[in-house]
Amino acid sequence: MKPDDLPSDFSSDPLLRLRREISDEASQCVACGLCVPHCPSYRVTLSEADSPRGRIALMSGVAAGRIPMNARFALHLDRCLTCRACEAVCPNHVRFGQLIDDAREMISSPLEVRGNNPGVRVSRFRKWVERELIAQPSRIDALRPLLRFYQRSGLQKWVRKSGLLGKTNLALLEAQVPFIDQPRSSSWSVVYPAVGEPRGEVGLFLGCVARVADATTLDAALFVLNQLGYVVHVPPAQTCCGALHQHRGDMDAAAQLERQNVQAFAGLDLSAIITTASGCGAQLSEYSSFSGWQRETRGEATGPKAGGETTRRSPPKVLDISEFLAEAEGWEDTRLQPLPHKILVHEPCTLRNVLRASAYAYKLLERIPQAQVVSLAGNDQCCGAAGTYFLDQPEISATLLEDKVTALKAGQACYLATSNVGCALHIAAGLRQAGLGIEVIHPVTLIARQMGMY
Ligand code: SF4
Ligand code: SF4
Repeated sequence: MKPDDLPSDFSSDPLLRLRREISDEASQCVACGLCVPHCPSYRVTLSEADSPRGRIALMSGVAAGRIPMNARFALHLDRCLTCRACEAVCPNHVRFGQLIDDAREMISSPLEVRGNNPGVRVSRFRKWVERELIAQPSRIDALRPLLRFYQRSGLQKWVRKSGLLGKTNLALLEAQVPFIDQPRSSSWSVVYPAVGEPRGEVGLFLGCVARVADATTLDAALFVLNQLGYVVHVPPAQTCCGALHQHRGDMDAAAQLERQNVQAFAGLDLSAIITTASGCGAQLSEYSSFSGWQRETRGEATGPKAGGETTRRSPPKVLDISEFLAEAEGWEDTRLQPLPHKILVHEPCTLRNVLRASAYAYKLLERIPQAQVVSLAGNDQCCGAAGTYFLDQPEISATLLEDKVTALKAGQACYLATSNVGCALHIAAGLRQAGLGIEVIHPVTLIARQMGMY
């Protein structure tokens, strides 16, 4: 792992610069192996090449040109769930998330040598979905009534019974379609006013998939925040967080989405931007630039510059809803109905390893009188959803899901609370398949229910 294997003059060549960055970061790894037993892909395949230490050695070798960038290299990287459990335990603070994103960018770079390059493996259909749907969330909103019709008309039952979709990716996707129980308008208001005297103003990040698959959680977040006295801004120009694009190496698309989101929330005086999906929260919290983040002072003397000039200010914190609510004011005026049941808590990797905010979900749920809030066994291991991993690596994903279902069966609870929509859909599909009637629910949705929202 010698960064010196690369020429020092790389400033004008972006690919060389990327290779140099990979080599530099990889050189921080001392190959101690402490991360290896924490890696879910290693635990399934038991191959060093599917462990963080092995992947770092491969990335370093390829970046320095000692190892060819071939399909085998790409496969070992593809098997990584980007769960970042390795990063959370690494004593040398190797930034594995950064490394793997850089390596994926290197693989998919059109500048890379064409001959052996395993890049550009993403289907045209997926690229179309990412560009025309995921990056245009208002179109996703429009899918909601269609999905409701699909379920209410009996079409979904027929499709599932007939086995029409076979063992395709579409079948895996269809199995995750949640029950759309409540009709809601397909648009969002720009501002949701506080109930009573306002205590503060926050922004709500809607995400992409959650707008259609988990609007209940978004509605619950609005309800609880408003009831506690917070005005909630929902800027219509916000878009997908860009995590899916970034994790498959499309940095340009990810950067474009980042710019659009930063711009969408700029100009609002918010104490926090709140996310209900920890996957989005993790991505937003690592946005590298808030360069468009400015406030029109309009004559207020808020700093050295006043009198209508534009003043730069630091961006608001990105907080998971459980973290914000656990510390929020206004609970003293709120009553929660008791729930004398066991609630198992699942800790999504992004909440645990990136945001490091798992504790707040427990703290929030413990507000429910008589609830028994317990950690789900095996919370240090990924459930296998991991963005589109369940489609790309279905075997490893299914093994990891099976472990969760086994832990849930043993846990004997009525509810599983989880803070990431991708994990919720994946685990709920596993529970349905196993015939287990455990309700998978976001912590804030359970809180809203006990507050009398529905
Ligand atoms: S724990 Fe850190 S330093 Fe040790 S092998 Fe893993 S990545 Fe390398
Ligand atoms: S991110 Fe997760 S799957 Fe990837 S190497 Fe690290 S621990 Fe393993």
